[in-house]
Amino acid sequence: MSESKDLRARVAEACRVLARLDLTKAATGHVSARVPGSDRVLIRARGPGELGVRYTTEEQIVEVDLDGKIVGSAAAGLSAPIEVFIHTAIYTARPEVNSVVHVHPAIVVLFTICNKPLLPIFGAYDPSALQLALEGIPTFDRSVLVSTPELGDALMRTMGSAKTCLMRGHGITTAGTTIEEAALHAIHLNELAAMNYQAHLLGDPRPISAEDQAAFRALARPTGRPSERIAALWRYYQTLTAD
Ligand SMILES: [Zn+2]
Repeated sequence: MSESKDLRARVAEACRVLARLDLTKAATGHVSARVPGSDRVLIRARGPGELGVRYTTEEQIVEVDLDGKIVGSAAAGLSAPIEVFIHTAIYTARPEVNSVVHVHPAIVVLFTICNKPLLPIFGAYDPSALQLALEGIPTFDRSVLVSTPELGDALMRTMGSAKTCLMRGHGITTAGTTIEEAALHAIHLNELAAMNYQAHLLGDPRPISAEDQAAFRALARPTGRPSERIAALWRYYQTLTAD
């Protein structure tokens, strides 16, 4: 399998995994990956025969340039998603990013609707999700489709160097050095929101102590999470969501 083919398969698989985890539904959402050493991007397309993010196949992945235009040969009728500019703006501004995820997870979006922060309410329960809260999660205040390069740039300015960004009344965008990392950021962000949501139902969520927040911040600093742990966690989600 060539590197490009393998990348297509991984983009399609990440779409399926995220949708099967109910992070998005129907046709709303896309995963993309930078083609190594190029200014090209592989992204989930829209078009004939489309069955939604949950059923994305390699054949539904198209190659676009950083202007969001399809390049190379795409199957007849396939087009780049209208919000391709979410992806192109991030790849243009952040050379370290090799994958971008945009999905519409209902529980996370509820927090943007009610303007409630995602608090660092747990520690060892899920350190990866906690780290996102500790690092700070910006919110893009517009609720429209990111359908122009200008809106993509505005989202990028809000997101800055963050791993994740909320989009008010819309969804989330995450960025990673690999497809699996970007997808896991989305999964962790959804977990953080799900726990905050349930804690609000039960009572008044309170952040873990400043001392324990500092302990987890210190853990994150030296190297971040080793890639083997990302691979292991991704294998778990691949298996969990396999047919
Ligand atoms: Zn969207």
